[in-house]
Amino acid sequence: MRQNISLEEAQHLLLERATSPGECELSIGEALGRIVSRDVVAAQSLPSFDRSPLDGYALRACDTMSAQPTQPVTLWVIEEIPAGRAAAKTVTGGTAAKVLTGAPIPEGADVVVKQEDVFVDGNLIHVFQPLRARNNVVHIGENIKHGEMLAKQGTIVTAAIIGLLAEQGIKTLYVYEPIKAAIISTGDELVGLDEPLTLGKIYDSNRHTLQARCKELGIDPVLLANVPDCRAQIAARIEEGLAAADVVITTGGVSVGDYDLVKDAVETLGASILFWRVDIKPGSPMLAAVKDGKMIIGLSGNPVAAMITFDLLAVPLLKKMMGYNKYFYSRLQGTLVNGFHKASEQRRFLRAKLLTESGRLWIRLMGMQTNSALKSMAECNLFVDIPAGSGALAAGETVLAHVVGKIQDVDE
Ligand code: AMP
Ligand code: MG
Repeated sequence: MRQNISLEEAQHLLLERATSPGECELSIGEALGRIVSRDVVAAQSLPSFDRSPLDGYALRACDTMSAQPTQPVTLWVIEEIPAGRAAAKTVTGGTAAKVLTGAPIPEGADVVVKQEDVFVDGNLIHVFQPLRARNNVVHIGENIKHGEMLAKQGTIVTAAIIGLLAEQGIKTLYVYEPIKAAIISTGDELVGLDEPLTLGKIYDSNRHTLQARCKELGIDPVLLANVPDCRAQIAARIEEGLAAADVVITTGGVSVGDYDLVKDAVETLGASILFWRVDIKPGSPMLAAVKDGKMIIGLSGNPVAAMITFDLLAVPLLKKMMGYNKYFYSRLQGTLVNGFHKASEQRRFLRAKLLTESGRLWIRLMGMQTNSALKSMAECNLFVDIPAGSGALAAGETVLAHVVGKIQDVDE
């Protein structure tokens, strides 16, 4: 068993044991949010015919070379082509065809002039300026080329991807099977939301935050009943979790106190402990173990520590198990707008938010950084990564941050 290892070593130990998901074929209507398991490439170039992007007249550019505002060129309109209909005639010298948005460009024409730019006089149009060939024509293959990647293996299916497949006439695709994660809260002090809160008891919030985090990832979690600080009961509940899910995640009881019994419970089960304690703050008291190829992750009970370690360690593992090809949060460098008064003996993750000011991006550290101050988690979208041995931080310093929330939430 490794102890006090670095975050990266812990992530590596987890990722190298990630199991691979199965796959299934789904209709595009059912695939939103799932992970693509087989690349999908374009079977055809789109558009498949030259088409008009606007309402106007298709004609030959060479016919308009002498056109001037005072001496327009007059053309005879030979037909009208709405969207969805093929042209019946060829555009020849001195003629034009009325085309509506989405209509195919008729044979012979090489440019479309906007309806607003011509003067219509019965079956005739007057064009007041020379037109350049290819203008206002969406050409075959301009949007998508045959063989181009539409949905890449290991990426999430979005609404736009579903649209890309639909415009190709593709009805189904292969995606990974969902995985299951069991969540167990441990602690004598915990009560459920429907139970009375007597002195010394607290509501079990981790159960709900982790459930929601799993759902955000696209995992429907298996919620198991809470257990008190009792080795046998914790072991039995973890066993239940292993039978019901691919990964078991516990919170609480993983430190060095008399009532921290998760490690003992895991050992009782005969699981092999991969590591105990990671060199980060918050959340260092955590463990990972493996039993019959299934992972058990024991997180600290502190609500913030549980979330941060879930994000930094469990999320990459879960994402790999789900079939994602990118497991880690993106990182960015930014400038602090405010400081942090404490030195960091250990590597520390500070909750922060990206904001814009005077047209530039800045990082603002949240006010409350204690382990239990869940409110600052609700407001943050970054974890600022402070190396071990750093002194206090001053405004204006450049820091590295992991982007854990949506960047669209940038403040004005
Ligand atoms: P522990 O990791 O068991 O030492 O717990 C650390 C702190 O987190 C203690 O103050 C616990 O009361 C609190 N805590 C433990 N489990 C939960 C939970 N499921 N929800 C909210 N707080 C918790
Ligand atoms: Mg406890």
